[in-house]
Formats: sequence, C-alpha cells, structure tokens
Amino acid sequence: MDVAKIEEAITSRTRAIMPVHTFGLPVDMTPVLDLARKHGLTVIEDAAQAIGQTYEGRQCGSFGDISCFSFYANKHIATGEGGMILCDDDALAARARSLRNLCFKPERRFVHEELGWNYRMSNLQAAVGLAQFEKLDAHIARKRELGRRYESLLRGVRGIELAPVACVYADNIYWVFGLVLDESVPIDADEARAMLAEAGVSARPFFWPMHEQPVFLKQGLFEGERYPVAERMSRRGFYLPSGLALTEAQQDQSVAAVRNMLATFL
Ligand SMILES: *Cc1c(COP(=O)(O)O)cnc(C)c1O
Repeated sequence: MDVAKIEEAITSRTRAIMPVHTFGLPVDMTPVLDLARKHGLTVIEDAAQAIGQTYEGRQCGSFGDISCFSFYANKHIATGEGGMILCDDDALAARARSLRNLCFKPERRFVHEELGWNYRMSNLQAAVGLAQFEKLDAHIARKRELGRRYESLLRGVRGIELAPVACVYADNIYWVFGLVLDESVPIDADEARAMLAEAGVSARPFFWPMHEQPVFLKQGLFEGERYPVAERMSRRGFYLPSGLALTEAQQDQSVAAVRNMLATFL
C-alpha cells in the first residue's frame, strides 16, 4: 500500500482505511494509523497472510480497530475454511459474535431484530486450528527458509524484481514468493505463467485490483479511477510454488523454468 497516496483518496464519504498485508511484508502501519486518527477513520486491518508477522516488533493484526485473519487452506494456519476477527472493544466483539450467529437474541430465541449470517466455526475446525497454532513458528520458519532460498537463487536475474528479504520494520515472512516482470520483458504475467506451466511449474497470479473488478464497476463504483501501482502488479506479478511441502528439487525446477523463460527474451 502506497501510504502517501491514501490521503488523496479520502473523501467526505470515507469511513475506514483497510490496509492489507500482502505476500510477505506488512504495510507501513504508523503513517496509516496517524492518518486514520487525523481524519477520524476506523482501521480494518487485513492480516490474513500475516499471522505471525510483526511490524516494528509488534504482531500484525494488533493494529486495526478490527483485524481479520483467514484460515483458508493456503494460509499459515488452515482449518479448511474460516477465520478470526480481533478487536479491543467489548461492544464490537458482541456485535461480531451476534452477526456470526444469525443475530439470535439471548432473551428471545428465534425472534430476530437484525439479519446476520451463519459464520460459526465448528468445534472440529477449531480443534484443527488450535493444533496448527502449535506449529505456527515452525511453519513460518519453513516459509522463510523457502523464500530466502528462492531469493538467493533468483537474486540478480535480469528481467524480474523481487521483494526485499527485509525492510526497516519487518523481515519478509514469504507467505508466497512473488516476482514482478520488469519493462524489459515483452510478455505479461499470464503469458509467463503459461510458459512456466509448459515446464511443469504452476505459478499463480497476483490479485486483481479492486477498481477493476466488474462487480464494483457494475455498481458504478471506481468509475474512471486509476491506480497504476495495483494495475502494474496485477499484470506483471505472479508467485512461484510456495507450499510448506515444497522440496529443494521442486524449487530448483521452478527457478530453472523462470530463468529459461526469461532467457528466451533477454
Ligand atoms: C485469503 C485472504 C482473504 C480471504 O480469506 P477467506 O478466509 O477466504 O475469507 C482476505 N484477504 C487476504 C489478504 C487473503 O490473503
């Protein structure tokens, strides 16, 4: 998130800032929190990919008025499906619990003042999640090991940009190992992924920008808006196989496929 650009986007209708920690390095939170305070905005922190990551030594997911985590299959903690919300406000927590559980009212069951959802996590999933929590440090250590190995094998290769191993406020947690094609490469990420697939390597696309989502455009949102950083990332970025069970041989195969793909152009 380009923090300097958030303020330009704030209007009289803005209610919240939603920083999303993506891929491995957290958002620079201090300026976001300062800006939110200045404009009286709520911060909803999306820490789905950043469980166990820290910003200036403090856990990601501890900065938002509300912070969200995902336990989807590809996250550091997986329970099949599900997630977790953290907040530090009893009223907000009660409201979240009520919305999760169909807005049942304790005083009069089956009479609803509001619509909620069934977002209950089953005990079975929770048990899996608790067992996974015990392995969180090991999972993260493994992710960092994989990420750093990819980084050392791809550092200096022409045609690609890599995320830093560390920045002033965090060490890359390498939820996935992403790379971005630079201007010297005449194909986009989709074409690159197709070439990698031919070499037996399944690379995945980066996220697609909010302001280009058909569902929002159909609602008249984001009309005519441009966010060049997100547009470039979505078209030039992809990530390499990054699962915990990846072997060194599979990693070497991915690296060789990337090098060969680039060698056809550079
Ligand atoms: C996975 C993910 C989500 C969605 O999580 P669900 O559990 O599918 O709701 C949201 N934000 C980010 C950044 C994610 O990586």
